[in-house]
Amino acid sequence: MENPFVSAVTPPPNLQKPALWFIFCGELLMVLVKPQTFSIPFIKNPNDIGITCVRSQYLGVLGNQHCFSGELEKETVVSKGIEFKNLRSLYSVLGDSLFTVAGRAKQIVEWERTNQFCGCCGMPTVEHHQERARVCSKCEVEIFPRLAPAIIVLISRGQEFLLSRSPHFPPDMYSILAGFVEPGETLEQAVEREVMEEVKLRVRNIRYLSSQPWPFPHSLMIGFRAEYAGGKIEIHPTEIEDAMWCNINNLPLLPPNMSIARRLIDGFIGEVSSNSNTTTNVS
Ligand SMILES: [Zn+2]
Repeated sequence: MENPFVSAVTPPPNLQKPALWFIFCGELLMVLVKPQTFSIPFIKNPNDIGITCVRSQYLGVLGNQHCFSGELEKETVVSKGIEFKNLRSLYSVLGDSLFTVAGRAKQIVEWERTNQFCGCCGMPTVEHHQERARVCSKCEVEIFPRLAPAIIVLISRGQEFLLSRSPHFPPDMYSILAGFVEPGETLEQAVEREVMEEVKLRVRNIRYLSSQPWPFPHSLMIGFRAEYAGGKIEIHPTEIEDAMWCNINNLPLLPPNMSIARRLIDGFIGEVSSNSNTTTNVS
């Protein structure tokens, strides 16, 4: 894999080298403005560019570059040449590796900001020395970063697959079905339930394909393929606006390349295209 990331909680002692700093102000990531593009600050310390973080965390090493995350107060004033951007909008600028570390940074910053006090007894928490965790100063409960697992599933029917639209999607965009896993559920049960709830279809041969951290705000998307097993599309009145069977010759606007939805869709399209000369008839 290109630029592997190695996670760690404490930096090497006396780290003097510049590092990549993923600094957030609320939801927005700080970038340096370069002609035609943006970059992640590569600096020894945020003070070097006139920035003071309220909290910062060591994240690990990307390739051979150390990485930190940091958080700014909402009202921080920054100098010229510094801007704040929505992380989603930066995918094409950052590329996969930096985008993924930035997503990790976003979740850790948010988790640390919202876990300064113990949820059990209300006393302040302190940093855990060996793990990515906080510990209550009084009752010693350990608090780990929270992840919300969500399934996402491409349902195939011969050479067709199901696409649907949520009311909150950008205009004209369609995607595959997704939803959060409920307590007490297996991933496969979550797939079956979501598909039944949202479009009233039955599926079979559910199999795992791949996953993607999705830091908006702290999901882990778990991608599946399933086959249509029965039923007629009947959309959930509030969660889904439209749903339809599509084939590779009639595709609407699809989700952006960075999303696992798009990767699952592209994978299916690739398979169908390479089989299209040998398979002509569908159920
Ligand atoms: Zn406590």
